[in-house]
Amino acid sequence: QEGFSEAALARLRQHLGNGNQCLVFINRRGYAPVLNCTTCGWSSECDACISQMTVHRTPPRLRCHHCGVSVALPRTCPHCKSATLDTMGLGTQKAESFLQRQFPNTPIIRVDRDSTRGKEGLSRALERVESGEPCILLGTQMLAKGHHFPNITLVVILEADGGLFSADFRGQEQMAQLVTQVAGRAGRAERAGEVLLQTKHAAHETLQALSNESYAQFSQRQLDQRLLASLPPFAHLALLRFDATDPAAAMGFAETAAQLSVQLSEDPRLVVDILGPMPAPMEKRAGRFRVQLQLKSERRGQLQDHLKNLIANLDQVKTPPRLRWSVDVDPQDMI
Ligand SMILES: [Zn+2]
Ligand SMILES: [Zn+2]
Repeated sequence: QEGFSEAALARLRQHLGNGNQCLVFINRRGYAPVLNCTTCGWSSECDACISQMTVHRTPPRLRCHHCGVSVALPRTCPHCKSATLDTMGLGTQKAESFLQRQFPNTPIIRVDRDSTRGKEGLSRALERVESGEPCILLGTQMLAKGHHFPNITLVVILEADGGLFSADFRGQEQMAQLVTQVAGRAGRAERAGEVLLQTKHAAHETLQALSNESYAQFSQRQLDQRLLASLPPFAHLALLRFDATDPAAAMGFAETAAQLSVQLSEDPRLVVDILGPMPAPMEKRAGRFRVQLQLKSERRGQLQDHLKNLIANLDQVKTPPRLRWSVDVDPQDMI
């Protein structure tokens, strides 16, 4: 129900019944990630981004978490005018109201960027947890770091599959770190902690590794895969990013950069692997179309020499109006 399995609800009931505290982790703020119309299939896509706007209930608005735009929450479908709008998926606000109905006598303490706005919002919420009374602490990755909750005996991680199919090669590593950090919040004191990963992909190698192996074993496995794929730390990456309001302008200039890069690579001292140009995984953000060109070399110095030459050449090329470009060496975010 509402993204909670029967097993998860039963464990919550048991731990609370024993007078303990529980942590429910979901890495998505807002009420639900999508609003859609069950009559015509309309969904709440942001006009400026290729992304859905998140439903917020308090206050009732649709917000784009990528460009910050927000509009009033529609009551009827903007496309077909039916009153058949429904939310899909789960955010912290929806989880909060669901848990409140399931556990009417238990305080639900929500911690996310919306609930902790303003001075001391977070510390006030955490003080209530530290008081030790049975409660459910519900929140996003704001909870993953730093805080110690000695009375929490159960951690439920919802949608633990979030990073499994990321377009970013670091997606699994980031997910594993988050899960490990969140799991580390439980059972710090004399009470043993239990961690429940809720997922639709229980057989996935990464989730199996996380529940059965140490983090060291998991990261060794990731390193083996990176070596095979010649990805960092076994190779060095640079990402050239281009964005413009006109998609053809962004792609055209990126193609010019790629051609220059091919020419430079004719020199054996400057050769690099060239991938792209191609649209970024998030193709449009805040009204701008985004294109990437990826350069890779196993030799760091060679990549740097190549970039130096490429930037000097690219600076000579007239850029189309309102086009922006930048070079990101060792990009931490490929989206
Ligand atoms: Zn409709
Ligand atoms: Zn947007």
